[in-house]
Amino acid sequence: MKKRILTGDRPTGKLHLGHYVGSVANRVKLQHKYETFILIADVQALTTNFEHPENLTQYVRDVAIDNLACGLDPEAATICVQSMIPEIAELTVYFSMFTSVASLKRNPTIKAEAKQYGYGENIMYGFLGYPVSQAADITSFRANLVPVGEDQVPVLEQTREIVRKFNSLYEPVLIEPKALVSKVSRLVGTDGAAKMSKSIGNVIELADLPEVLEQKVMKMFTDPGKIYKGDKGHPDKCPVYSYQVAFSTESELDQGMIGRRLESLPDSESGGELKQIRESCLSGKLGCVECKKNLAGTLNRFLSPIRERRKDFEKKQKDVDEILIEGTKKARIETKKTVQLVRNAMKIEYFRG
Ligand code: ATP
Ligand code: MG
Repeated sequence: MKKRILTGDRPTGKLHLGHYVGSVANRVKLQHKYETFILIADVQALTTNFEHPENLTQYVRDVAIDNLACGLDPEAATICVQSMIPEIAELTVYFSMFTSVASLKRNPTIKAEAKQYGYGENIMYGFLGYPVSQAADITSFRANLVPVGEDQVPVLEQTREIVRKFNSLYEPVLIEPKALVSKVSRLVGTDGAAKMSKSIGNVIELADLPEVLEQKVMKMFTDPGKIYKGDKGHPDKCPVYSYQVAFSTESELDQGMIGRRLESLPDSESGGELKQIRESCLSGKLGCVECKKNLAGTLNRFLSPIRERRKDFEKKQKDVDEILIEGTKKARIETKKTVQLVRNAMKIEYFRG
């Protein structure tokens, strides 16, 4: 039997390059090897966007289209919508009974994001409980592997704790999942901030038009120690160089190559183009403007087939909706089985005939 993958995105906007390197590339690469489920986490989008539910319909479709455009095959991978799977909400409630508030407040992802949003004492119950709801997502699919960016690793760790606690309190029916973190586990923002993030707005979207992408790249932060063209650069401190590492390789830039591309990053660093960029930056020969132009070209070449497929899917909205409806139906066959196991283990399976 194939092992299972569960991962997903919060529909808070279109997907960006950070999602791609952190999680989507691995989804596409592994979709045939693992039984793959992609959850569009619209309920979790509300943890920070509860005041703007009017955007959700569009964002759900955007995220679905982005995944499909990157090469997710709906025949192989099941794409489903969180709010349409009530079993996840049910598991969230059960898990919340034995998850302490202190452990949630200690979670480094929750701590960092609460600070970013300035929540303080007024933090919402749902936001604080995000790791519990994510534990419900993953365990409801009995997933083994979760491809995520580095920022999600502490949340996944909490899922593992919840699973261990459930299994020891009741019966060992839940699977303890593992995080799959890719080589480029955290893409910095165009502003040099630690993470490219929809909520910060420092992103290059997969759907950005070539001109928009070029403008964003030309405005990117670079190595602060390199002011004039002839100055020696410090590529390892430069956001532009980190994108070069993530995206400029000698391989073809189509989605079929993605997995190999990411896996071969350290080798490609010693290879042709990237090596040249690094050395000429270090020596001061390469100016930042030229380096950025080169990066914009690389990214536009990389995104070109994704944009093409995106356009096709945008014209076929009904088909995309159908993929989500059918995917959610298929997903619920699995989540219903899990809830049954959980209720039995918790001895709350009475009066159901
Ligand atoms: P938001 O700011 O609204 O939370 P986000 O950009 O963090 O948006 P999510 O939907 O929370 O996006 O994340 C989806 C997946 O993409 C997660 O696995 C996350 O770790 C990964 N991811 C998001 N941003 C990055 C990034 N900059 N680098 C690597 N992985 C990322
Ligand atoms: Mg996030």
